[in-house]
Amino acid sequence: MIMIRVNGLELQATEGGNLLEVMRAADIRIPAVCFHPALKSATGICRLCTVEVALPGKAPAAKRACLVKTVNGLVVQTESVAVQAAREKAMRSLLKQAPQAERLIHLAQEFGIRIDPAPDGCIRCLLCERVCKEVVGAGALKAGKRDGQRLIEPVEGRCIGCGTCANICPTHVIRITDEENVRTISIRGEVIGRHPLETCEGCGRRFATPKFLEVTHERAVDHHPDVKEHHRWCPECAKRLSPRVSGTLTRRY
Ligand code: SF4
Repeated sequence: MIMIRVNGLELQATEGGNLLEVMRAADIRIPAVCFHPALKSATGICRLCTVEVALPGKAPAAKRACLVKTVNGLVVQTESVAVQAAREKAMRSLLKQAPQAERLIHLAQEFGIRIDPAPDGCIRCLLCERVCKEVVGAGALKAGKRDGQRLIEPVEGRCIGCGTCANICPTHVIRITDEENVRTISIRGEVIGRHPLETCEGCGRRFATPKFLEVTHERAVDHHPDVKEHHRWCPECAKRLSPRVSGTLTRRY
């Protein structure tokens, strides 16, 4: 038997043993996903088991524990700043390839490895926030920060349910759901606005929210007097019944 020292504690080990297995047998927690004791050899591909190792008379160096053979007098650090940095780098690289892998996410939590949040489908182009403010005039979205991450957030009570943000979004991360006469606008499952749907006076289908109709009426009525009478038509009925198309009504603008 030989003696090695891990985090200041002396451990007995068999000479030439696998350092990762030796440490795990001594209940020293080391993350690794590419190692399996049933397989003949280790590869060190995941790099998660990187530790600081000093051979007798030599300076410490970062090494993958699964590739180190135990020798007498080996000194190992598993929780140093350098080890944590190496784990973070390895984990980032693994999560880039498998961002939804629960095992990786659990390992990161267990070992306190900081990781970037999983992609949420938003590319932070700000088109939704700008169109809502500049064109719709509602200001129902804002660019904010949560847990150090930039993201688009709803501003409570401002949404009019027009759906412009969802239509302009290049990744379709903003959703419009019309269900049981209620329109819900949401981003990443978070509600931006929820509104009842009004009935089209032409065909009777539910098509727009009261707030949207109110805004349309207020904005357009001075410039387009027909809007006052016909803004409660859905787009299809507006085309079908419009005085320009039907010729049955006299245009006043
Ligand atoms: S649906 Fe709401 S958040 Fe989206 S553009 Fe219209 S008012 Fe703004």
